[in-house]
Amino acid sequence: VAARSSEPTNSGTTQQVDVAVVGAGFAGLYLLHRLRKAGFSAVVIEEAGDVGGTWYWNRYPGARCDIQTIDYSYTFDPELDREWTWSEKYATQPEILRYFGFVADRYDLRRDIRFGTRVKAANWDDAGERWQLTTDNGTNVSCRYYIMATGCLSTPKPPEIDGVKDFKGEIYFTGRWPHDGVNLAGKRVAVIGTGSSGIQSIPLIAEQAAHLTVFQRTASFALPAHNGPAPDDRKTYFEADRAAYREQARWSLAGVPYPQEMAVSWQLSDAERRERFEKAWAAGDLVHILTQLWADQAADFDGNALIGKLIHEKIRAVVKDPETAAALSPNDHPFGSKRPCLDTNYYATYNRPNVTLVNLRQEPIKAITGSGIVTDKRSVDLDVIVFATGFDAMTGAIMAVHPITGRAGKSLSNVWAQGPQTYLGLTVAGFPNLFMITGPGSPSVLSNMAVSIEQHVDWVVDRLAALRDAGFTTMEATETAQAGWAQHMADCSMLTLHRLANTWYTGANVPGKVQALMPYTSGVGPYRGICNEVVSRGMLGFRLT
Ligand code: FAD
Repeated sequence: VAARSSEPTNSGTTQQVDVAVVGAGFAGLYLLHRLRKAGFSAVVIEEAGDVGGTWYWNRYPGARCDIQTIDYSYTFDPELDREWTWSEKYATQPEILRYFGFVADRYDLRRDIRFGTRVKAANWDDAGERWQLTTDNGTNVSCRYYIMATGCLSTPKPPEIDGVKDFKGEIYFTGRWPHDGVNLAGKRVAVIGTGSSGIQSIPLIAEQAAHLTVFQRTASFALPAHNGPAPDDRKTYFEADRAAYREQARWSLAGVPYPQEMAVSWQLSDAERRERFEKAWAAGDLVHILTQLWADQAADFDGNALIGKLIHEKIRAVVKDPETAAALSPNDHPFGSKRPCLDTNYYATYNRPNVTLVNLRQEPIKAITGSGIVTDKRSVDLDVIVFATGFDAMTGAIMAVHPITGRAGKSLSNVWAQGPQTYLGLTVAGFPNLFMITGPGSPSVLSNMAVSIEQHVDWVVDRLAALRDAGFTTMEATETAQAGWAQHMADCSMLTLHRLANTWYTGANVPGKVQALMPYTSGVGPYRGICNEVVSRGMLGFRLT
């Protein structure tokens, strides 16, 4: 199909384009590249000052990816893939941000990105069959297609503790870390939160601070990163046939090329299970431990509990104080039902004399005061409070555009009042020509996001080009298809242990958020097959006009 070029135009206060993309992270950058190649005029609207999304905002000490960077990369252009070599198994935030700068330069992307601009509201105009986007800076945008590449983990959760405004010291959020860094030397610092960002930053903050107090509500499973150069076995596998490696990732469970493990826990002896576990622990590979120990680890409670016990042993072996070790050992959720974290000296940090763990399950925070934090049992004087309290995941950035109104003035916040409803995690009935990249209802955060993002971008841009070439102007999920997808999502989730945990996957971390398991749990390969089948069966579940 020959690409037809269409130039953006400005009419008064409105910029006219075929496609508006919101977000210039991993997803938005690839979208812009593909849309241009397909001959669409496109603009990307981005609140930040530059490209990178997650990796622009999260500059806290220790910020890194936890999927090996050999896998956490664009794969759409083999030349790009060859031109960039990662320096480490798990690259740091500055290196990942440089990568996005490199990609933006290589494809000359920045000229179509409006930085420092937030999309505030979006309205579908039924008569004109176009979306009207209201921005907070410069012209508004009128577009045929509106793609939200707004990120699953891009809206930091506001603090839910009384008295934050009274605190006289410094306050930082890991998800909005200052670009010039923060000098913590000699200061009394608190970190609230022990998810991925807390676990990555705590060891480095402890090295600088006079004293660090960590406030923990839910203990996370942290697995050793053993960072360093990319491991030889993976590199050799990758270099042997890069295209085959990438293809295997696309059809895998989690977006990293591993075969399906077949042995179930009870077929293995204690010694065999321990051997598998020790090998994986020594390798420092999150996806390996999450998917490769035994086949029933994510589906069977007992098979899963065996892993929890082995990790508890590891924690006890490192952390000298038994009470602290017990508090750090997760006992309220199955392993993997909440995202495990990667640990570089995390547990060992609690052996430092200048680090204290406060277990909020035993002594909840009562308030933040002018001078520090008061719990049921103690008062901690502080110079700095770091909130590592996570994100309003998956729906936060979508709902922050308010209102989003579809057909007949229907508002997305009303449609989603009982939790997000989507078809394939990509579209919503009643909202024609609106697409969400890695939206709720797709594998998204349960996968290597690089693979999930590329799959969504390819699917959406291919569909837009096919619609255009067939003379259609709108595409909209049917209510029936959406209800069917909800049922399928629920059926799949009943086969996993996610239903047993209150996590950010279910919205439980945000007070008042409706609880529903948001990501699709059956894996990126099966999901890709379904998306392809929808197309091969004549856009099953979509109404085209
Ligand atoms: P983002 O990178 O979040 O980009 C979205 C952009 O949209 C942001 O820049 C935001 O400013 C902009 N935006 C949102 N709303 C608006 C609006 N209304 N108007 C204008 N602009 C807007 N995933 C993995 O697979 N592996 C990892 O190892 C990994 N590590 C992570 C580490 C951290 C600390 C975090 C927070 C996330 C990590 N993730 C990881 C998930 C990560 O978010 C994705 O991998 C990926 O970067 C998401 O890309 P994106 O383009 O979809 O969204």
